[in-house]
Amino acid sequence: MSGPGTRHWLLCTVLAIVLLPLAEAAVAVELRPAPVPEDPAQLLKQADGLESSDPSAFSVLMRRLDGSKLKFSPQQELHRRYLDAREIAFRGDFKAAIPLMQVIANQSVDPVLSIRAGATEVDLLLTQSRYGEAFGLLSSLLEKLPQITEKSVRIQVLGAASQMYFEAGQYDLAVSYAELLIKESDSPKAACIGWFDKLGPLLQTGQLQAVGEQISDGKAACSRAGDVLIADMFKTVVAKFDMQRGMPTEAINLLQNSYVEVQRKRFPPLISDVDELLAQAYWKSDDTKSAMLYALRVIETNRGFGGVYLATTAGAYQVLYQAEKKQGDLGAALAYHEKYVASDKGYLTDVSAKALAYQTVKQQVLANKLQIETLNKQNQILQLQQALAKKATLASRLYIVLLLLVLAAIALWTYRIKRSQLRFMKLARRDGLTGIFNRQHFVNEAELLLQYCRKSSRDACLVLIDLDHFKAVNDTHGHAVGDRVLQRAVAACKGCLRSTDIFGRLGGEEFGILLPECTLAQVLVVAEQIRLTISTASAGEDAPGVPISASFGISSAAHSGYELRQLLIHADEALYQAKREGRNRVNVADSPECA
Ligand code: GH3
Ligand code: MG
Ligand code: MG
Repeated sequence: MSGPGTRHWLLCTVLAIVLLPLAEAAVAVELRPAPVPEDPAQLLKQADGLESSDPSAFSVLMRRLDGSKLKFSPQQELHRRYLDAREIAFRGDFKAAIPLMQVIANQSVDPVLSIRAGATEVDLLLTQSRYGEAFGLLSSLLEKLPQITEKSVRIQVLGAASQMYFEAGQYDLAVSYAELLIKESDSPKAACIGWFDKLGPLLQTGQLQAVGEQISDGKAACSRAGDVLIADMFKTVVAKFDMQRGMPTEAINLLQNSYVEVQRKRFPPLISDVDELLAQAYWKSDDTKSAMLYALRVIETNRGFGGVYLATTAGAYQVLYQAEKKQGDLGAALAYHEKYVASDKGYLTDVSAKALAYQTVKQQVLANKLQIETLNKQNQILQLQQALAKKATLASRLYIVLLLLVLAAIALWTYRIKRSQLRFMKLARRDGLTGIFNRQHFVNEAELLLQYCRKSSRDACLVLIDLDHFKAVNDTHGHAVGDRVLQRAVAACKGCLRSTDIFGRLGGEEFGILLPECTLAQVLVVAEQIRLTISTASAGEDAPGVPISASFGISSAAHSGYELRQLLIHADEALYQAKREGRNRVNVADSPECA
């Protein structure tokens, strides 16, 4: 009987718990006679080293640590509790050690201690057939593996992975992790365990050629390991190889050579493994008696493991059943056969449970990965949406700014148009030379004002002004001087007028003023004032010696009515009358009032 399962896992589990800490590479410790340092960190380091190299010295040191009054930091206290839990596991109380390891793995801030506790927990879970939890924990440890640099911890996790995948029938994976273990091993002992882990699955899958090519490397590493237990365990692999090659005698010789030594080790999993291999080898060599002897030893040794189904038990019962059958004791053969079937079934159930647990955890890990990927994708979509929303906000802000700019441009443009319109309108209403109303605008404004005055029965008078002998000014001094004289005359008029009076240039050197709410007497005063102002102002430097004067014709609404046309005719008549009478004077249109 050979195969993955109970035989192998028991060896491996104990191997992992007892041997894999591998700290002896870093710490060469001798408890006696060297004095024990009192520094907690040093003591813990020493305990780490003793744990695998000298279990009894380790126990003594742990008792000292338990009873000491040393001050441990919280992390050191966790380390101490981890070693305590390992000691509990060494004593065989695997079940009790599991929750202790769990607490340490969860609480340790030091990732190395946390992973060491986790890896031990994996091994312990296996002893309790809690395969689902073990695979789940292992896969989380493997996920953390790339971040772990501590050699001993990496080796511990790689060893656990290789052994567990072997148990679950995942031989390729088991070989890959074993190869990593060999590659990363920092001691011959670690390398020997790596070879043990690698060649087991290769044998299992019948790759005898590959085993043949590599077995000498494994032997070399294991002989260098200097650890008899490890070397003896590796010998079981060599013996299996010999058996598979059809060389049972070689297997017997190899195992018998170290048989006494193995017995002395008092390590039941190894003892039972060696005995079962010997039973198989003797059976194949036709030594029925010896085969039965070793098979019975297996049954005896395995009794100590209680109800656990061991592959070696099934193998031993198979040998016993075949041997009794051969010897003709069919009753005994039948009894052994029944036991063989029961233990083989138990063993197979155990293998299926492990394979199922592995597949379940694998599916869970895959599902988790898928879920994480989906979440990542959702996150990416959300981020894209946010980026888009940001861009949309930016774009809408730009649109608003653009719109405001367009609106501002339109407003500016409208303002400019309005301004130039107003300017044009002003230009259209004003006389270009003097800036006062032109004839058309004067007529419009005067008519409106007269209507108002008529409606409100207010007085209104019209004054026409014509500069005297203006042609002579132009002729004598030129047109430019004439223009300036016209401007000065306008300024003189403005100085005597109210804001309500309407003043315009009616043509050439002729001006009109409409004065609302003004009696004839009042307008006479104003006209006289203007006449005096014009006549006293000289033509200035441009036209020295040229006398400037103007003649005035006045008409009033009271006499001529509120029609502008009529008022203009009457004022014009009065003006010509003034010209005729010698100029530089004011004349009022003929009226009873004025007469
Ligand atoms: P009177 O005393 O009879 O009014 O004689 P006058 O010379 O003022 O009259 P007339 O109508 O013969 O001459 C008016 C002159 O006014 C003719 C023209 O050259 C001049 N005049 C008309 N408009 C302008 C102008 O805008 N600028 C200048 N410099 N002269 C103008
Ligand atoms: Mg004139
Ligand atoms: Mg004139």
